[in-house]
Amino acid sequence: MTEAPPRTVAARTTDLTKVYGKDDAEVRALAGVSVEMYAGEFTAVMGPSGSGKSTLMHCMAALDTPTSGVVEVGDVELSSLRDKALTELRRDRIGFVFQAYNLVPTLTAEENILLPLSIAGQKPESAWYDMVIDTVGLRDRLRHRPHEMSGGQQQRVACARALVSRPSIVFADEPTGNLDSTSGAEVLGFLRRSASEFGQTIVMVTHDPIAASYTDRVIFLADGLVVDETRSPTAESVLEHMTALQTRVLES
Ligand code: ADP
Ligand code: MG
Repeated sequence: MTEAPPRTVAARTTDLTKVYGKDDAEVRALAGVSVEMYAGEFTAVMGPSGSGKSTLMHCMAALDTPTSGVVEVGDVELSSLRDKALTELRRDRIGFVFQAYNLVPTLTAEENILLPLSIAGQKPESAWYDMVIDTVGLRDRLRHRPHEMSGGQQQRVACARALVSRPSIVFADEPTGNLDSTSGAEVLGFLRRSASEFGQTIVMVTHDPIAASYTDRVIFLADGLVVDETRSPTAESVLEHMTALQTRVLES
């Protein structure tokens, strides 16, 4: 048997906890998550509603601060950064795609895609920009505003916006949650190609075993902990893991 090549860690959490609220209202969203996301891989995060998926993404993307534990993106430990460095890291090294697209309604598709760079007074690298626009299939939509586009097109604009700075990691929280299956498949196909063809590291939350089957690896959360994972998933294998976890919960 040949050994698998060593994987480069793009982001890592160590014993990450996040507690919301106080006293009676206390909620432990993350209960000690240690997980590594590997460079160039497309990873899915799955788990029941309330299991901590969004909290994990937000803490890893520096959109929320942990209660305890460590988050590293590349070789940078997030807690070591001051406000300005953190803003720059979020802007230059992290992309985020939300379920609700979060586009600026008064701006065209192109202006939305370029907005994070424009704010920083930067321009995209032109070969990379062209590649992103063509891969996402938006060349003929660049002058359209969000209300003139379908949900799938708007989400592809949001994906292009997340990718245009060539971030070291992109987080997507249920990016296909609002889309019909055809538009969802377009977005998933685009994310898949970004990983396979450009080596883009992507972490995506999803409820859908078919969406998870586009990825390289699936991590399962329950009650704020990583409880299982699987590689080279198919929709069937993901469903089997989900059923097994459900059975464990019912038996416990
Ligand atoms: P998921 O994305 O898996 O559905 P979340 O990470 O959103 O789960 O939430 C995990 C737990 O933390 C849930 O019990 C949720 O109600 C709670 N939670 C999330 N965000 C907040 C918040 N801002 N304030 C209080 N509780 C929160
Ligand atoms: Mg969520």
